[in-house]
Formats: sequence, C-alpha cells, structure tokens
Amino acid sequence: MSATFVGMPGFPSYPAFPEAAHEAVRDETLRGNLRHATHTIRAKRARAVAEVSDWAALREAGRRIKDHTLRHLDRYLVQVEEAVTAAGGTVHWAVDAQEANRIVADLVKATGESEVVKVKSMATQEIGLNEALEAEGIRAYETDLAELIVQLGKDRPSHILVPAIHRNRSEIRDIFRSEMGEWGRPAPEGLSDTPAELAEAARLHLREKFLRAKVGISGANFVVAETGTLVVVESEGNGRMCLTLPETLISVVGIEKVVPTWRDLEVFLQTLPRSSTAERMNPYTSMWTGTTDQDGPSTFHLVLLDNGRTDTLADEVGRQALRCIRCSACLNVCPVYERAGGHAYGSVYPGPIGAILSPQLRGTGSEIDASLPYASSLCGACYEVCPVAIDIPEVLVHLRERVAQGDQVTRGGNKVVLRPAKGHAAERAAMRAARWAFTHPGVLRTGQRLASRTRRLHPRTLPGPGKAWSGTRDLPPVPAEPFRDWWQRTGGGKEGTK
Ligand code: SF4
Repeated sequence: MSATFVGMPGFPSYPAFPEAAHEAVRDETLRGNLRHATHTIRAKRARAVAEVSDWAALREAGRRIKDHTLRHLDRYLVQVEEAVTAAGGTVHWAVDAQEANRIVADLVKATGESEVVKVKSMATQEIGLNEALEAEGIRAYETDLAELIVQLGKDRPSHILVPAIHRNRSEIRDIFRSEMGEWGRPAPEGLSDTPAELAEAARLHLREKFLRAKVGISGANFVVAETGTLVVVESEGNGRMCLTLPETLISVVGIEKVVPTWRDLEVFLQTLPRSSTAERMNPYTSMWTGTTDQDGPSTFHLVLLDNGRTDTLADEVGRQALRCIRCSACLNVCPVYERAGGHAYGSVYPGPIGAILSPQLRGTGSEIDASLPYASSLCGACYEVCPVAIDIPEVLVHLRERVAQGDQVTRGGNKVVLRPAKGHAAERAAMRAARWAFTHPGVLRTGQRLASRTRRLHPRTLPGPGKAWSGTRDLPPVPAEPFRDWWQRTGGGKEGTK
C-alpha cells in the first residue's frame, strides 16, 4: 500500500496503518517495552476485576447508562449548561477542533498569561491544543508524568493511559537529563534510572510550574448533569494541583462524557479504576461544581466539544464507540497493539478503540482512516474486557463494510467518501471471485476435486501480491477428498471414512 500522509494534531505526515506497523514490528526495543508493560497491566486488571462478584452486572449497568445518556444527549447537555452556569461557570460550545482551540486561546489571552499547566486530557490532545496555543505564543506544560516524558522527548503518545509506554527507564532518564533544563528546572546531577529518582526529578521540575501558573487546563472523565459537576480521576496528584491552584480553570470535554446523575457516576467509579490501573479506586478523584469563594479557581470555563461526535451518534452500529470511558483495557489485551505499538494508529486514540473511534470522528476518507478498521484480527479480546461492553469487532466489521463500499458520510456539513485503500481492492476482487464460485456449484465442485488431486504440488507461499500475506501464515492443507464428496460417500459420516 502506498503511503498517504495526512495532517492531524500531533500526528503530522503519518502513513497508513500497515506501513507504520511494518516499521514498528521491526523495533525490538519497542516490542519488548510493550510486551512487558501490557502483560503486567492485563494480569493486574484480571485480578482486580475477579475480586468483584457483580462485575457482569456493573458492566451491563454501565452500558445501559451510556446508551440512555447518548439517546437523550440533547436534553442532558442543556441540563449541564444550566447547572454549570448556575454554579458560576461559563459554558462554550465548540463544533470542531479549530473552534475549541480558538475559544481556549482567547480565554487564556484574556487573562494576560502566556503559560498554562495541563492535566492529562485526551480531548485536548485530539484537537491539538498545545500546538494551537504555541502558535498564539502560549506555552502549555503537561504535568502528568507520562505526558511530561512525551512532551520533553518531543514524542507522540502511544497509549491512552500510559502515553510513554513505549519508553523504558533508561530512555526516560536520558530524556530528563537532556531536556528538562530547556523547559525549566533541570534534572538533578547524576540522575539514575530508578523509579524513585525519576519521580523526584519530575516532582521538583513540576512543582515550580504549579506554584507559578495562573491558568489550568483540563479535560474530564465525567460530567454529572444533575449538578453540573466535573470529575477527574488520576493517580499522581498532579491533576489535583492543576485543578485547585490556578485562578482560572478551562476544561475541554467531549459531549459524550455526560452522565445523568451521581448514582450513575457510582457505577463508573467502580469499573474505571479496576479496568485501567487495576486499582479498587483511584488515588485522586477531583470533583468541582462551578466556582467557590476562597476555594479553588475563581473563574471556570467549560468547553463542550463535538468534533465528529454528533455524526458518530447518527451511525446505529458505530455509535457504541461513544460509550468509551478511556480505560485502555482493550489496548492491553490486543495482540495487534502489542506488536505494532500506539504510533502506528496515527491518532491520539490507539489500539482497538482507536481503530473504531478515529475513522468515525475524523471521517476524512484518508488511507489511514480507511486502513484502521482492518488493524485487528477480530479475536474479540477487546470486547471481553471492555467495562461498557462496546462490541469493537462488530463495529470494525461494520466500518470495513463502509470502507469497501466507498461509503459517503457527512462531516462538518460536508460529504466525504470513505475510500477503500489500495490493498483492499485486491480483497474486493477476491471476494467477488468467491461469490461467483459459490453461486456456481458445479464449478466449485470441479475446482475442489482438482485442488485435492493436485494438493502435493501446491506451493507453501502464494506468488505475487499474496506473498507478503502467506509469508507470515501457514496455508491450511487441502484435504485428500473434498468435504462434499466425503459427505455423499459416507452418508454424513454414518459409514465411516476411508
Ligand atoms: S473501548 Fe472499552 S476497553 Fe477500550 S478504552 Fe474504551 S471503555 Fe476501555
């Protein structure tokens, strides 16, 4: 497949999945880092989930709450706006990344500040907020440890929960030593690669930024509609600092993050930590409702982000991707992600959820988006672990169908075509040939008999375009006798076999 380069926040000039994955699987260090990290997290998650006797009921409750909320999203979003406004906050609506970035940049400029501290946030990565602020002369400091490593290393995130999962400890030490001084307090002399020393270096580096910052930027894991309360869960405490110390707080939140009530929230506060970090509860759960005198930020802005979500909601099969609570359990069990790594997905959403979310949110019809639904073996491990029961294989197959048909979808008021990538043209031709053969039983039978009689002459690898495919797979052996002949001869096996 030829490379198509597409521009997207944080992922400029990125090739389609097969090409990107091809590079990644040859990187033994990357594969080693990923294998160690994903196997460790998945084993811990399995133990944490096994502790809960009603896990299946919690999972079903989560699915129902999300589906109900998405069905009535218009009503709940208005409820959020009213509640946040009543609590002293200001709500902004952003139809796409450009509008969201403009709103945030204008809000920061209005404070007179030229730097902000950030809580880890997928929504702000999705819209490329850091790059947009940089273009306006505003520097955004990531404060989550893994995000800090990615930012200092001029790297890209490769995992939803652990963005620097592709880095090992000695790589992180080298990044701290060479880059921290460029961004503020340098790394201590003689920094080693022990976790304690690395964490201390990051703590000292970030502390001065927390104490100086006047503006904080966050996302949110949930927004409770009945009170307009935002919720951020995290493990390090950096989020708590960003959410409480600055005078102005700006939160950019996808519209699908709403839950109707506190009772609904209770379900996700049980399933999210066990699915993501394998903890019984998150070490830090921060909640805030508008502003409060003498406590926390005095100004609060909520930017509600669409950016393709309403279009995704219109797809009856694909809309279940909006249930996602970004736990990353599906990444940690995915055999494709484990080998290809997160960068191959060309998006801030890697792994199985990225393969169904990115093509729906972006809908660009580019080769990378057309290739993502094929970035899966359809083994179903992602569905098994998903705490909101997103049937990812079902959505993958649905999106493949749309890609194969050259489906037209609407994005931002424009019609765009989901184009089949070049490699898929051969697949379509093979499917057409198979359909013809299956609708001509006489030809199929003759072909099967011929294949059985000549089976010793069959090559172990396919020639031409099929060479790469068969180079990594064993072709199934052709039986000495076609199944249908065997069935007729034995009366369905009653007379035994030869
Ligand atoms: S799709 Fe499911 S398992 Fe994957 S990140 Fe989202 S909620 Fe977690």
